[in-house]
Amino acid sequence: MHIHLSDSLAHEQETKAYEAELEFDVFDNGVSAYPVVDKKPVKVRVTNTGDKKLLIEAEAAFSLQMPCDRCLEEVTVPFSYTVSRMADFNEEKADTEESEEQAYIEGYTLDVDTLVRDELFVHLPMKVLCSEDCRGICNRCGANLNHGVCGCDVTELDPRMAVIRDIFRNANQ
Ligand SMILES: [Zn+2]
Ligand SMILES: [Zn+2]
Repeated sequence: MHIHLSDSLAHEQETKAYEAELEFDVFDNGVSAYPVVDKKPVKVRVTNTGDKKLLIEAEAAFSLQMPCDRCLEEVTVPFSYTVSRMADFNEEKADTEESEEQAYIEGYTLDVDTLVRDELFVHLPMKVLCSEDCRGICNRCGANLNHGVCGCDVTELDPRMAVIRDIFRNANQ
């Protein structure tokens, strides 16, 4: 959703509050695309701090469906964070590299989706697990081991296990 900022720019020291719907249904981080679910309206506050500067604050809450790193089953991962940016509308700076950083602003319009999406990169989890003790998938047949054992002789797959078995075998001779 887009919010027009010209009114805020005209009134110094005023704060305006908005509820903005998130429009993006998929988050693509360049590697994977995750469906966006459970979207809540973004609470946006725009404060004119004087000198053609606007403090933009946005509170976002939604979930992404991401695959478990071990078993690949979809996990609904909740996100909730606040984005805070100072947007400078002084014209001398508008054409410098600084305008690159203000990708969430086009002219005098705030692009709430871009603001929220750009910040999401910072909040992505290092690891996604369906549960702490997820058993993952069998390396041999690909079965999800959370749903039961598959029958493969997994001791053959782990060289460390093979070493231990040899020790036992030698001890029994
Ligand atoms: Zn899992
Ligand atoms: Zn198996």
